[in-house]
Amino acid sequence: MTDGVDMTMRVHSLIGGDEVAASDTFEDIDPSTGQPLASVARGGAVEIDQAIEAARQAQPRWGAVSAADRANALRGLASLIEGDRDQLALMESRDTGKPLAQAVADAKVAGRYFEYYANTLEAFFGRVIPTAPGVMAYTEPVPLGVTGHITAWNYPMQILCRTIAPAIAVGNAVVVKPAEEAPLTSTHIAKLVLEAGIPAGVVNVVHGFGEEAGAALAAHPGIDHLSFTGSVEVGSTVSKAAADNVTAVSLELGGKSPNIVMADADLDKAMPVIAKSVIQNAGQTCSAGSRLLIHQSLHDQAVAGLADIFGAVSMGPGPSDPDLGPLISATQLERVVGYAETAGAAAVGGKPPTDAELAGGYFFPATIFDDVDPDSRLAHEEVFGPVLAVIPFTSDDQAVEVANATEYGLIAAVWTQDLNTAHRIGGQIQAGQVYVNTFGAGGGVEFPFGGFKKSGYGREKGFEALAGFTQTRTTIIKLD
Ligand code: NAD
Repeated sequence: MTDGVDMTMRVHSLIGGDEVAASDTFEDIDPSTGQPLASVARGGAVEIDQAIEAARQAQPRWGAVSAADRANALRGLASLIEGDRDQLALMESRDTGKPLAQAVADAKVAGRYFEYYANTLEAFFGRVIPTAPGVMAYTEPVPLGVTGHITAWNYPMQILCRTIAPAIAVGNAVVVKPAEEAPLTSTHIAKLVLEAGIPAGVVNVVHGFGEEAGAALAAHPGIDHLSFTGSVEVGSTVSKAAADNVTAVSLELGGKSPNIVMADADLDKAMPVIAKSVIQNAGQTCSAGSRLLIHQSLHDQAVAGLADIFGAVSMGPGPSDPDLGPLISATQLERVVGYAETAGAAAVGGKPPTDAELAGGYFFPATIFDDVDPDSRLAHEEVFGPVLAVIPFTSDDQAVEVANATEYGLIAAVWTQDLNTAHRIGGQIQAGQVYVNTFGAGGGVEFPFGGFKKSGYGREKGFEALAGFTQTRTTIIKLD
């Protein structure tokens, strides 16, 4: 299988249907080896201007296309992505280091976004509002116009499709600034958009650095909405820039999501899911289950069982499809090592491997820290690595208090065999999604997704995203 990526290939931006080379380029690094993978256009304010202009030109015509025709185009795009699934997956695996099987799953979900919004867009319409006799009032969802999208590197393909599918489904045109660490699949998918018959200019991709192309997009008066996925710090920066133009923003930020295991939980079912929730994508998932809140009565059994699972995890380059690939970059490895060094002795893992065959890559093993102090940095801050913090509790109130104690509120899971406990505990958790006896990191196209507190605001996925990319016009008619 070949993904056609090599250093002789330059990855260009795609503006108004044309590939555009910037005057400068940057190297895209393979995290499994630390070696250059491709050379990418370093776009900036000029390319952002051009892309917004192309989107402005394209949007009125695309917004006027019938819902049925837009749905057909999105369906066509979904099947093109499905047709290129293996190629996209290998490209993503090399670009991010994620295990190949996980990249295949991501490619499937990427296509599914267009299929889902093709299905739902025709069922998304306004209401007639009952009011006084002789008055007719109705609402219509109206596209926002041109929407800007800044994406993160951890699930580049999925996040791109998650954010642009609902936006174009309801008739917007988009300008995307992908994360510079993993730019490859965005351009490929933008080309498939054209192949699906969606007009040039509806989807534009400008590659470049956050402080250059990203900042130019966030501050641009020509966008009507900004969807941002990334860190709290940059989310706050881009929303300030957007505020100067009164541009609406939705923020999908970080998390420190807990698996809360009650005394009556089925531990055998819970443990593999808990392990996967923080090992998948090397823990670089906004909704990773990075905290295990475990009832004291199950603590020893749970830690022993998880230690067995974590200890057996295979590590290697993403395309070789291990359980655990590398972290995305040297910077990210340094960050994870920094947390591990200050967290004391690990129960499992805790130090980068020394194996010769992994040299050069940004590898960090599946790691457990047990009996973590609930007030420590490890209990509160997002590590973004395969690192589990285990915190025992003895009462329901304590479990809820610790679960809600971080500044984040993205997702949570409650493990119990009692439906009453599930409702009682789940209903007190400050998080945008609460799972019971399962954990949903990364999946669930149909489920509205977004944070409480500093995990952000606005909702992507599900029907909610269609509302997020429209504005409501209400027409009130006085009849004779
Ligand atoms: P980041 O904030 O550094 O970068 C995200 C994006 O912002 C990139 O495209 C980057 O180029 C751009 N950017 C950086 N500086 C910018 C600036 N000054 N102006 C405009 N754009 C700028 O985030 P990261 O470290 O790449 O990603 C990891 C973070 O993203 C984690 O906190 C993770 O939890 C979060 N995340 C959240 C979700 C979600 O859906 N909630 C999904 C994935 C990742």
